[in-house]
Amino acid sequence: MNEIILLDSETVDKIAAGEVVEKPVNAVKELIENSIDSGATIISVEIKNGGIDLIRVTDNGSGIPTDQVKSAFLRHATSKLSSIKDLESLHSLGFRGEALSSISAVSKTELITKTGNELLGTRAVVEGGKLCVFENIGVPEGTTVIVSQLFYNTPARKKFLKSASGEAAAVEDLVEKIALSHPGISFSFTANSKVRFSTPGNGILKDTIYKLMGREVYSRLLDVELTDPVITIRGCIARPEYNLATREGEIFFVNDRFIGSKELSYALEQGFKNFLMQHRFPFGVLFIDIDPKLIDVNVHPRKSEIKFFDVACVCELVTKAVNDALREPELIPVATIGGTGPSADNGEPAPISQVSIDSNSSIAATQQGLEENVITEDFFGTNAAAEDKPVHIEPFETSKTDLIHTDKPLNIKSDIPRYEQSDMFEDRLIDDKPLKEYTILGQVFDTYWLISQGDNLFLMDQHAAHEKINYE
Ligand code: ADP
Ligand code: MG
Repeated sequence: MNEIILLDSETVDKIAAGEVVEKPVNAVKELIENSIDSGATIISVEIKNGGIDLIRVTDNGSGIPTDQVKSAFLRHATSKLSSIKDLESLHSLGFRGEALSSISAVSKTELITKTGNELLGTRAVVEGGKLCVFENIGVPEGTTVIVSQLFYNTPARKKFLKSASGEAAAVEDLVEKIALSHPGISFSFTANSKVRFSTPGNGILKDTIYKLMGREVYSRLLDVELTDPVITIRGCIARPEYNLATREGEIFFVNDRFIGSKELSYALEQGFKNFLMQHRFPFGVLFIDIDPKLIDVNVHPRKSEIKFFDVACVCELVTKAVNDALREPELIPVATIGGTGPSADNGEPAPISQVSIDSNSSIAATQQGLEENVITEDFFGTNAAAEDKPVHIEPFETSKTDLIHTDKPLNIKSDIPRYEQSDMFEDRLIDDKPLKEYTILGQVFDTYWLISQGDNLFLMDQHAAHEKINYE
């Protein structure tokens, strides 16, 4: 048996580094989180050869004061935690003071940084945990960390890496997820000198989705919004005609942390039930904000899993939020005629805890995020939401008491559970002949055409019509 010896600090650091940085993507995550914590509004990420040759993260955040740069590289050095009590209330992303020390123990790391109050910035180079360069330098405010030759001194770890392209894909996926969860920060990502994407950083999730995923999905996004005393579900889903062969478009953030969860995926898919074919998967980016007391967050920074104490309830709400968003366009006419949903009383949506979770009930239907679209009796009168969206429908006489006048009664009942598609055309394929029999009277909500034909009045969903044309 060998003698028991104390490991030297370099070896200890290398072992510890392996726990934090197993792959390039781990290092990138730590560096981006540091940039976010520093209050940056612009973060650029560059990698070469999957991050193995180079990782560069630049931010316009607070920077590190010169006299603190050396300690930033020490293990368990952090500016974010002064005692263990803080752990519970901490909001910043990294909090163990291990990232810079771990990364610099297994690579050649260069840190260039400047704060707003200092005239000169600092440049420090640490190789395999040893400080090699420390100097003042004129640089703009913010921080750049350049990590080159990752795992150059731990060949065993290097051997376990996937191909460079596999590592690059993992990094790109990570930056994409972080960008989605921070629409207020402008991210750019460059791999092997090619700009892969950049996000606007204007705080608008849909615009971020547009830049990351393209127009196809952007043009079909629907808002999801559900508020309950202990949970908020917000984000976007794509209309069902945009669907995928895999679950890669099912993206969840719980309290802004990216979470992979079979349960949440299933809940999202349940919301799309009857809207999607089998083996097709929806697109959705959902933010679930929940009282931290109701989840068990594993504090290990590499884990993307959490436990909900009442997962069934969370899933039910996710399904409902999604289902409501999908049904919203259909519900507009139902709300018009009845005019008696809870929103008609005070214009406020009822809290979810007061209504049953039943996606078919009109209460459930009208209490959710519909303020703008719910049409109450005074729709053509003084309703502020209506004034925002002027509607021009000349052939109709409108007043408070008689909403719509036509010669024939419209014969619409408020308790019709769902609208049915009417057959406007006998021919199943589009033919422009019957067009002459129809008159487009106007458009409401930027979505529906009002069309008359003889004694009939039709409401046509412009987007659905467009789909039909595309289809044929
Ligand atoms: P932690 O983030 O857990 O505090 P790190 O090793 O990641 O530990 O960073 C150590 C310290 O260095 C941080 O607490 C912070 O004060 C400083 N730091 C690191 N990166 C940045 C950055 N991009 N901008 C400003 N300060 C930074
Ligand atoms: Mg950190």
